[in-house]
Amino acid sequence: MILLKSIPKIDKFVSNKAFEDYSKTLITSISKDVIQKLRKDILNENIDSFNEEELIKEVKNEYKNITSSSLKKVINATGVIIHTNLGRSLIDKDAFDRVKAIATSYNNLEYDLKEGKRGERYAHISKVVKKLLGCEDVLIVNNNASAVFLILNTFAKNKEVVVSRGELVEIGGSFRVPDVMNSSGAILKEIGTTNKTHEEDYLNAINENTSILMKVHKSNYTIEGFCTEVEFKKIIKIANENELIDYYDMGSGHIIDLPYGLQDKEPSVLDYMKYNPSLLSFSGDKLLGSVQAGIIVGKKKYIDELKKNQLLRMLRVDKLTLALLEDSMKSLLLNQKENIPTMKMLFKSQNELKQKAQELKQMIDKYCDCTILETKTVIGGGTTPNKKIPSIAISINLNNYKPNKIEKLFRNKNIIGRIEDEKFLLDLRTIQDDELNTIKLKIEEIINE
Ligand SMILES: *Cc1c(COP(=O)(O)O)cnc(C)c1O
Repeated sequence: MILLKSIPKIDKFVSNKAFEDYSKTLITSISKDVIQKLRKDILNENIDSFNEEELIKEVKNEYKNITSSSLKKVINATGVIIHTNLGRSLIDKDAFDRVKAIATSYNNLEYDLKEGKRGERYAHISKVVKKLLGCEDVLIVNNNASAVFLILNTFAKNKEVVVSRGELVEIGGSFRVPDVMNSSGAILKEIGTTNKTHEEDYLNAINENTSILMKVHKSNYTIEGFCTEVEFKKIIKIANENELIDYYDMGSGHIIDLPYGLQDKEPSVLDYMKYNPSLLSFSGDKLLGSVQAGIIVGKKKYIDELKKNQLLRMLRVDKLTLALLEDSMKSLLLNQKENIPTMKMLFKSQNELKQKAQELKQMIDKYCDCTILETKTVIGGGTTPNKKIPSIAISINLNNYKPNKIEKLFRNKNIIGRIEDEKFLLDLRTIQDDELNTIKLKIEEIINE
């Protein structure tokens, strides 16, 4: 066991000149782990030699791993605009600059500057949202899942919530409507069948313990063929006639009408506000195109009740969220699509995308074989299930490698594309204008490796 004896002592090891410019505490902690593993490996006879240089290198590598940021910028070349795995909606760069001063200095988050006393954090955004949506009041929470939970917990604890069987969905990240309902304390009253739910089903389900008639957006699936569902406006009417609360979990809520004929199938928040619903909620970072948040709009008497629930303290949003959301809502009020990256990408014409594709092709033509082609993509984020939108992509061929291999080479450079028909594609719909040059540089790196 001569090898065991030659394991360096921690104190001596960490005082090596190689670690001079490093945090001593962190180097010591990592060195302990590395040396402990070395001892184990020797005892298990996994290794029969080592040298100190290698140990130093290992410690330095681990140090770099821990201290460099794990959350990294990536280029989304998948074409999926609201990509759930890639951070959903983008925040506009200029909006971020405008908000910077608020987040990096003291501000009037909960201070009424006019009165010189405590103010309300939700007041900042309520004026602009009320104007934009024509609602009586608004409340912002951490995300739409929190909005659903807060509403059910406030109004339906130990009471029945009527939902169509066709809308008891599971969306990504283990959000299942029946389970959320259960943990909020509400009692689920399922009605109808998987494919058909009628107005009578709602009427027949109502009893003295009913509190909410709820509708849920199907998000990532569709029912086609022999099917019927009850429109929200009819549910609102039934709720009014029976003195109940109507609530629509819209999932993604959009304000600007959708292009490509999608608007007929997917009414906007404004379309629903015409019917004066009790409550409606949607995400801030799906089609609205802002930050992660849950936006609850509706009648003031219900929003007031929500504000009294202790849970709100756990679900409340930070100044950064409020400031960015206020900025987006203002852009929407002024119809400035160009300040909302999600909308900007969605509305790019095929011609604009083609031009961008040609520009990129010219930049990378000398490194790889590439062809511009017309393709289709999806909006994503469970916004418009099973609906495709047109797009333009560049297919990349590198040294006749298999598409899987090219995909991996690009992914290692933080460029995420997609494989379709045995081709590796970069879809121009989600590539930002200032990313073309980065793509060129990364391809150069790939070629030279
Ligand atoms: C996306 C979605 C949610 C969850 O919204 P988050 O903002 O991700 O919390 C809830 N309900 C429906 C129908 C959805 O589509």
